Amino acid sequence: MRRPLVAGNWKMHGTRASVAELIEGLTRQAFADDVDVVVFPTLLHLTQAVAALDGSVVAVGAQNCAAQAEQGALTGEVAAQQLVDAGVRYVLIGHSERRSLLAESDALLVRKFAVARDAGLVPVLCVGETLAEREAGQTFAVVKAQVAAVIDALGVDAFVGGVIAYEPVWAIGTGLTATPEQAQAVHAAIREQLAVCSAQVAQQARILYGGSVKAASAAELFGMPDIDGGLVGGASLNADEFGAICRAAGN
Ligand code: PEP
Repeated sequence: MRRPLVAGNWKMHGTRASVAELIEGLTRQAFADDVDVVVFPTLLHLTQAVAALDGSVVAVGAQNCAAQAEQGALTGEVAAQQLVDAGVRYVLIGHSERRSLLAESDALLVRKFAVARDAGLVPVLCVGETLAEREAGQTFAVVKAQVAAVIDALGVDAFVGGVIAYEPVWAIGTGLTATPEQAQAVHAAIREQLAVCSAQVAQQARILYGGSVKAASAAELFGMPDIDGGLVGGASLNADEFGAICRAAGN
C-alpha cells in the first residue's frame, strides 16, 4: 500500500509576511495521519518555512537544486547538500515551467535528480505533455521519454523512495484538469514502464497528479488506483483549500 503524498508548489509567490500567514493557516489544518504533506516555498522562504513548520507534519521542499553536487563556484545556485543542511527534505526536478521557460533539458534534470538523491533529498520528477503533444497523440511517448531519461542514466532503482508527478502542461495554472480517467491512463503507463524494469519499484513508487487540482476535484482524482496524491500549485496558496485537498488523499 503506497502512502499518499500531497505537495504544495508555492512557485514564485510570497513575502515573509504572507508566508508566515500561510504557514499559520497550515498549522491550523487537521491533516490525516496516513498522508504525507510537503510544501515548496521559494528559495528565499525555505529557512523561514523549516523553522515555522518544525514539529508539524508538514515537510519542506525546494523548487530546484544545482546540478553540481559539491558546493563551490556556481553563482546563484544552491547545492542539494545545502538544502539538506537547511532542513529541506524534498526537491522538485523538471517542473514544466523550468523545462519550457528556463530550457532545462532531460540531461540536466537527470544530473539534478542524481545529486538530489545522493544528498538524501526525495526528488520529485515532474513530467507531462503540452496541449499540442496531446492533440498529436504523443502524450504517452513524451511522458515515457521523460521518465526513461532517468531510468536509462541512473537505473530504475533511482525511483526507490522517489516520486514522479504527472502534470499535463495544458492543465497547469489553466483551470483545466485532466479527467480522472485521462490521468489514470498516464499514471498506469508510467507504472507499467517502471514495472518492465522492476515490479518492486513500480509497486512502491508514488505517482502524483498535478494540474489545477482543487478541493472539489481532488477526491475523484485521488480515488484512481495509480494516483497516489497530488502536486498542487495555485490552490496550495490557500491553507484551507490545501488542507481540504490533503484530507481528500486520506483513506
Ligand atoms: C504546479 O505548479 O505544479 C501546478 C500543478 O499548478 P496548478 O495547481 O496551479 O495548476
